Amino acid sequence: MKDVTIIGGGISGLTAGIYAQLSGLQSEIYERHTIVGGQCTSWMRNGFHIDNCVHWMTGTNPKTELYQLWTDVGVLGNGQELLKHDYFLQVNIDGVKAHVWRDLNKMQDELLAIAPEDAKEIRSFIKAIKDFQAISIPALKPNEQMNFGDKIKMLSMIKALPVARKFGTMSIDDYIKRFKNPTIKALISNYLPKQYYVLATFFMYAMFTTGNADLPLGGSDMITNRMRDTYLSLGGEIHCRKKANKFVIENQRVTKVEFEDGSATETKNVICTTDPSVSFALLGETYMDAIFRKCYADKKSYPIFSEVNVYFSVETSIAHLPIMELFNCEPFEIANKTHSVLCMNNYADEPNFAPEGKGLMQILVVQYEEDYEYWNNLYTTDKEAYRQAKTALVKEIQSRLEKHYPELQGKLTEIECVTPKSFNRFTGAYKGSYMGFVQTPHVEKMTHTGIIDGLNNFHLAGQWLLTPGGLPNALITGRWAVQRLLQRENRLHDFCCKKK
Ligand SMILES: Cc1cc2nc3c(=O)[nH]c(=O)nc-3n(C[C@H](O)[C@H](O)[C@H](O)COP(=O)(O)OP(=O)(O)OC[C@H]3O[C@@H](n4cnc5c(N)ncnc54)[C@H](O)[C@@H]3O)c2cc1C
Repeated sequence: MKDVTIIGGGISGLTAGIYAQLSGLQSEIYERHTIVGGQCTSWMRNGFHIDNCVHWMTGTNPKTELYQLWTDVGVLGNGQELLKHDYFLQVNIDGVKAHVWRDLNKMQDELLAIAPEDAKEIRSFIKAIKDFQAISIPALKPNEQMNFGDKIKMLSMIKALPVARKFGTMSIDDYIKRFKNPTIKALISNYLPKQYYVLATFFMYAMFTTGNADLPLGGSDMITNRMRDTYLSLGGEIHCRKKANKFVIENQRVTKVEFEDGSATETKNVICTTDPSVSFALLGETYMDAIFRKCYADKKSYPIFSEVNVYFSVETSIAHLPIMELFNCEPFEIANKTHSVLCMNNYADEPNFAPEGKGLMQILVVQYEEDYEYWNNLYTTDKEAYRQAKTALVKEIQSRLEKHYPELQGKLTEIECVTPKSFNRFTGAYKGSYMGFVQTPHVEKMTHTGIIDGLNNFHLAGQWLLTPGGLPNALITGRWAVQRLLQRENRLHDFCCKKK
């Protein structure tokens, strides 16, 4: 019997496995899919590489604690190249273009030139981002294990406090009412869901402009493969096609994990990294505590979101197009809702994503819980109608792309269409949500220790424990689960990172 049984081989499961091995705990990972990686995944279609996840990865600045974690798990350092673009996003509304430049002064100048009528708010917006550059996510220890010195270190973030106080109760949707210019409004509001508190936008742009949210070359595939290889090299064991069906609980301990194929494994400790909707189904709903109950019940304060992603191959190179462009278009419908903005992601910088001389683009459209219900209903009642809805949607998007990029007329071929239902089907993601709960204003940030009352050898990990989820929170909670497990066994002194 291993010291730790890890259920789920996504980023949090692999992280937990790596830190367990580094700390001298023997571990094994059970994953329901044929490969590890969870939501951080990719696959091949017609010779093109479909990257299903990373558009930005927080923790790429070597001065941050997150960077240390990414190097511990083998993702960064060791010659790993980062794609460092001059800008994160180009917004194009009726031909008026604005950018999220890495150079904030350049961004301010551009925004002021486009919208002198918003000068005061533009200056305040740029200042908020600059003040948020002081933020560095504490990642080395869970809160309860921090000592006085660790807390003192956090004072370096004090500069961000006045902005957090001033705008902390404002959603993105409320914030953009301060601006008149539609391009500026789109630049602030159209990348993240509008219910997010606006601090999320400040944070995102602050991380990009400090070199702390770049893209690792090779994308999601590289992230997952490097983590898998690190884990295996440390002696960890991975069992794929192993869907956990039930945790057997005796005397406040999970003693056995039963799998769908009829097999079972006895266990000393469990770190469960599946989507919590799956984790609590495996444990029994009675184990769901007040924190999760509140989040699932209060959908207005803790909404979730997902995406429709459509991938097109292009007959020619598209290196001349922006790396990411958000533009307005003729209205079209998805899941009975009207959309009039598309976000195009261009993979021209990735040498191995498309065959020589060809292009690959991804179109992203945000989806919410009610949109998931639409796709789920179609999928479960009439698979042919589900397929037809996807085909119709692809056609609508393609015609708008051809209008926006006339040189691509007749050169686009759909190669993949992913809906919120797809995320749910392949990883068990709750209603297709690939991040955690959205952080809205007026509500407490959702944080969870992963410790469940009445279970002495069981820990949750995964992005849902810390809003708003994402890769860094999957990474952090995987590490913290091992630290908490060791603390419970009075062995925290065994906790170990890679020697540099
Ligand atoms: C389209 C898309 C774009 C994204 N873009 C970004 C981005 O740019 N930046 C960013 O930071 N994050 C991004 N994310 C989010 C990021 O992928 C996730 O935050 C992260 O991968 C979550 O990791 P996790 O380990 O917490 O959960 P998961 O990846 O969900 O891992 C859980 C694992 O458990 C497995 N599992 C489920 N049920 C069982 C069972 N019964 N038995 C065994 N195994 C089970 C699943 O198959 C999965 O492998 C994106 C995600 C998607 C889908």
